Amino acid sequence: MRPEIAFLEELSSLDTDLRQIEEKLGKYRGEMETLVAEVKAIDARLKADRESLATIDRTRAELAAEVRQMTQQIEKSRDKLNRSRNERESNAAQREMEELRKLHRDREDEIEKLTAAADGARTAIADSETKQKQLTDTIAGAEAGSSGELVALEAEKGTKLSLRESVAKKIPVVLYRRYESIRTKRPVAIARLVEGTCRGCHLAIPPMMFQRLRQTGEIDQCPSCRRIIYYMPAADNAAAPTSSPDTGA
Ligand SMILES: [Zn+2]
Repeated sequence: MRPEIAFLEELSSLDTDLRQIEEKLGKYRGEMETLVAEVKAIDARLKADRESLATIDRTRAELAAEVRQMTQQIEKSRDKLNRSRNERESNAAQREMEELRKLHRDREDEIEKLTAAADGARTAIADSETKQKQLTDTIAGAEAGSSGELVALEAEKGTKLSLRESVAKKIPVVLYRRYESIRTKRPVAIARLVEGTCRGCHLAIPPMMFQRLRQTGEIDQCPSCRRIIYYMPAADNAAAPTSSPDTGA
């Protein structure tokens, strides 16, 4: 077996490991981002709810002041009615009192509605605060729990990257560039040939090509999937770890 084949396999195996590490890191970051976004959304909702509650409370206080004022005015109208000297005065005082009573009632109705709205807002705020607390705890727990794993993953990534660098240097430049170019389209850029079939795409390559690669140990590209292909004796195939399953990606 040509040495560059061994290096290619080592490189490909490192790339598979690195991809898995990146996936784990990406998944963790994605989960954290989702949690942080949820907390932000709750913060915004809380701010809006607190503002509307303040408005409701202010309006209600104003209405309550008006109600007190009207109560006094009604008292004054009652005095007027008691002191009326003729029917005209008495009627006028009566009308005034009725109008004031109606205004008084309207305001009390409004206060009642606002009280219900304020209660609703307070419940919503309490719910949001509970949810916010839960999420903050979840984030803190996730950070504490996975920080060790994250450090380990980052360390593993660093080790594999420097190892990859040294392996890549051992591969002829043209071959390495071809490998990298295929890797932009397929996660695993190399494939062994088994019984005349490319293990990457599971399609047979032309028999003449297979004979040539088997006899010379040369490296070529699969006519179907363009992966770098090479012949590997059956004994080595059994001993070597199987390559990653092809998703055709
Ligand atoms: Zn193929």
